[in-house]
Amino acid sequence: MTSTFLADAPTPANHARPGAEPAAAQRWSVQAVQDLLERPFMELLWQAQAVHRAHWPAGDIELATLLSVKTGGCPENCGYCPQSSHFDTGVPAQKLMEVDEVRAAAQAAKSAGATRFCMGAAWRAPKDRDIEKMSELIRTVKDLGLQTCATLGMLQAHQAQALRDAGLDYYNHNLDTAPEYYGDVVSTRSYQDRLDTLRHVRAAGVKVCCGGIIGMGEAPVHRAGLIAQLANLAPYPESVPINSLVPVPGTPLAGSAAVDPLDFVRVIAVARITMPRARVRLSAGREQLGEAVQALCFLAGANSIFYGDRLLVTGNPDVTADQRLLARLGLRGTPAR
Ligand code: SF4
Repeated sequence: MTSTFLADAPTPANHARPGAEPAAAQRWSVQAVQDLLERPFMELLWQAQAVHRAHWPAGDIELATLLSVKTGGCPENCGYCPQSSHFDTGVPAQKLMEVDEVRAAAQAAKSAGATRFCMGAAWRAPKDRDIEKMSELIRTVKDLGLQTCATLGMLQAHQAQALRDAGLDYYNHNLDTAPEYYGDVVSTRSYQDRLDTLRHVRAAGVKVCCGGIIGMGEAPVHRAGLIAQLANLAPYPESVPINSLVPVPGTPLAGSAAVDPLDFVRVIAVARITMPRARVRLSAGREQLGEAVQALCFLAGANSIFYGDRLLVTGNPDVTADQRLLARLGLRGTPAR
């Protein structure tokens, strides 16, 4: 598909052709991403939808269910997170769940139509004995025929390999925001720590799930900086979760100003344009966005959602509401393979 405005749209230094693999040489400057974010809204959506149609079947939405398998008591101080032990949020700490409990939750998710099951544990960095227990959970979920994903904090190279050996398909580790704004959100680890774990995950042959959060008080240039960081990973992540901050009382970011919903849609569109083959996941904050804005996000190229009435510890639309919304929009869950 070509058009006059598409020819005028900002492009990376080495623009990907439809059908091309994500390429290490595909570089996006922060300015080029910011130029995209500032495009007239309708043109941006048109461009994003054109990129989406060139790389993905229309109407296909991946349904991923997220379960907190070890909750609270985390020594990190991520300013958005109710699971940090630095903040008084009333989230009770819970130890790692038993295999049978996780199997039952994964089976229920599969029965409801999910194809990917993500397990989150509030660790700064798991110990090797934690990796052994997680490996058992991964094998259990994998045996049900679900894709597996885990988010466990910082990993060492041998730990990433052990998770891969257990059958882990994806590892989630978000960059959260631009490097320049990262210190305003968390101070107990560095941006480079995040990049190091992502490197270990890639080296182990596990697919990368990596995105960020919009609405933490960041400036537009920081949103552009986040997307540029993600798009310039070589290769860029297979899954890109874009979250709208869910302000939780007790966290430092509880008083953050709400994001303009159309600005959130813009970020989704730019993620789609800059990472054509990634699953762009409309993640936390869908309840606040409402159904009309979610529909715009799907038009902008989002093709994955978290599915189930809880995220790690915050709310999410329930399964019935999501099934109804997808049906009203003529969308369908990605069939299990
Ligand atoms: S986001 Fe993760 S690492 Fe940060 S405080 Fe929460 S559980 Fe810990």
